[in-house]
Amino acid sequence: MSGVPVRAAVVPTREEIEQLSRDFEQRSAQWVMEWAVQTYRPRLVVSCSFGGSTGMAIVDMVMKIDRTVPVAYLDTGLLFPETYELIETIAKRYGIEPVAIVPPQTVAQQNAAHGDALWAREPQRCCDLRKVEPQRAFLRDYDAWITGLRRDQSETRQATPVISWDTKFNMAKICPLATWDERAVWGYLQANDVPYNPLLTRGYASIGCTHCTRPIDASEDARAGRWSGFDKTECGLHVPDTAAAAASEPTR
Ligand code: SF4
Repeated sequence: MSGVPVRAAVVPTREEIEQLSRDFEQRSAQWVMEWAVQTYRPRLVVSCSFGGSTGMAIVDMVMKIDRTVPVAYLDTGLLFPETYELIETIAKRYGIEPVAIVPPQTVAQQNAAHGDALWAREPQRCCDLRKVEPQRAFLRDYDAWITGLRRDQSETRQATPVISWDTKFNMAKICPLATWDERAVWGYLQANDVPYNPLLTRGYASIGCTHCTRPIDASEDARAGRWSGFDKTECGLHVPDTAAAAASEPTR
């Protein structure tokens, strides 16, 4: 790789990240990831749901650069069996131990404290308890996170920068595949023989918790199968807190 800056003595400021954002539009995903590893390691983490296709490409790319970069996932206790199997497959393939971010309450404890099936009544509150707040606590030990957001995934993701200052978690957020499309991601997975969630071949385009994920048809966008019946297409990790709360209103 040429033109990669040597490891920064200090990580970029919020203002510097805004400058870098313009430059990174022209860079390859691999270049951006090498830069991220050199700049932020060991305070860099890859966040992967083990549900979508993009996260798997990112994990493979980062593992080809540095297998010591942690790969973390939110273990809500409500993931599909296929997702847990994929996590085991990835652990063996790369010789890593993906880090499970676990909510403070088990599903049973949450049911006792907030009533049964909170996801069916107040999904944003459930996502806050099982995803957003555990992620916030986990990310405090890091300066940057890499995630698999793409602009073509939904209307809410159309303006996703390759690198930005994440005001929600107060750190750098890097989306190396922001400009890729589904076809390019699948091309990468096939060319590199990267494992993926088998539900992606059974009508699911985006995979999260069992209660809040359904297959979609060809006319729907990739996020339509999440939280059906609610004005909610994001768990809250990638949107401001106020926007996440508003999206929890039921449409049915
Ligand atoms: S995706 Fe559904 S079950 Fe999972 S944390 Fe969010 S609301 Fe709860």
